[in-house]
Amino acid sequence: MAKNIQAIRGMNDYLPADTVVWQRIEGILKQVLASYGYSEIRLPLVEQTPLFKRAIGEVTDVVEKEMYTFDDRNGESLTLRPEGTAGCVRAGVEHGLLYNQEQRLWYMGPMFRYERPQKGRYRQFHQMGVEVFGLQGPDIDAELIMMTARWWKALGIADHVSLELNSIGSLEARAAYRDALVAFLEQHKDVLDDDCKRRMYSNPLRVLDSKNPDVQTLLNDAPTLADHLDDDSRTHFQGLCALLDDAGIAYTINQRLVRGLDYYNRTVFEWVTTSLGSQGTVCGGGRYDGLVEQLDGRATPAVGFAMGMERLVLLVQAVNPEFEPTRIVDVYVIASGQGVQSAAMQLAEKLRDAAPQLKLMTNFGGGNFKKQFARADKWGARVALVLGEDEVAANQVVVKDLRNGEQQTLAQSELATTLQALLA
Ligand code: ATP
Ligand code: MG
Repeated sequence: MAKNIQAIRGMNDYLPADTVVWQRIEGILKQVLASYGYSEIRLPLVEQTPLFKRAIGEVTDVVEKEMYTFDDRNGESLTLRPEGTAGCVRAGVEHGLLYNQEQRLWYMGPMFRYERPQKGRYRQFHQMGVEVFGLQGPDIDAELIMMTARWWKALGIADHVSLELNSIGSLEARAAYRDALVAFLEQHKDVLDDDCKRRMYSNPLRVLDSKNPDVQTLLNDAPTLADHLDDDSRTHFQGLCALLDDAGIAYTINQRLVRGLDYYNRTVFEWVTTSLGSQGTVCGGGRYDGLVEQLDGRATPAVGFAMGMERLVLLVQAVNPEFEPTRIVDVYVIASGQGVQSAAMQLAEKLRDAAPQLKLMTNFGGGNFKKQFARADKWGARVALVLGEDEVAANQVVVKDLRNGEQQTLAQSELATTLQALLA
């Protein structure tokens, strides 16, 4: 017998029980974004491969081993986007959105990385990304962080995430630091694992976030980035810290925070949690003032971050018992008797005219009252409307509040107002 076709490993289906959770969370995120004046941008899932190689860097985990790359039918190499910043910058340059302008943008959608699937780590996952162009001061870095802090509050997870912050300085400062770090690592090669030895020359800063405990101990004695920071980056970072202090946002300065993509400079940050096991980074970002120019635009300061939606959803579900998914049905319409089904459907249509935001489901397939009430419960309805032959004849309807069992008989004309009050 042929093997059943299944979803690709690490690529999830999101079923209705999941999408109601996602919709509520996305709604909260978007509402907060709107309250800061950020606009949505929608970008292709596929880009030319060189875009990612140039933006993210040849010697990064993402480009070296995680990209889904294939040849188009005309032989051109294409890649499923592993992140959103590169495409966002490409689009901004292509459409002339960046030079001498301010842009505050966000996007939400699937990203693709060939990784080992586990809780919080998938091959198709979703990011909410935010990118700001044309602003160079630390105030905008602070606003991005304040906005994320507002998200956590609105989602009821503020006590379960903490902010880590660092400055990785200018390109030149990093080059000087790289030399000092490599010199140090060369003296301690015996402690380094193969991965670190490989990275030591190709991308030495990545050794700083090695998960190997022996390497981490060794790094306690290593030269630090902070000692090599250029003055402008130092001032920028102090400015950011002061703004966060004023806003009452707590943070830890983590000198080893470098982030995995090559385009960052100055500010880098991550929101981390201990409530999700080892996939603890919910959100990460920073400045990337050189990227626009590197992708053939005119030099434009930029800062942004990306949040892993799956990790956020897992976290909300793990720590916020009061979180309510989006409700599918407010009102369930129950009908029984000769010719009553048609009257019920017309009543529902009229209600949708009068109160478009109401979520109304009409019973289909008949069934006695008991069965229909059971269906109303199954859909999570707050209110049931009950129509029988008598109600139809009298232009009335029975309204039953399913939360407390109270019921009343009303004229159909009064229904919309009563329902809106009941559900407010
Ligand atoms: P990690 O250290 O967990 O691999 P990363 O540094 O590769 O993360 P970024 O490229 O900065 O992650 O992406 C931003 C966010 O996207 C991460 O903080 C995380 O929440 C999420 N993310 C990244 N890769 C995955 C994945 N494979 N599955 C689910 N979420 C992911
Ligand atoms: Mg990764």
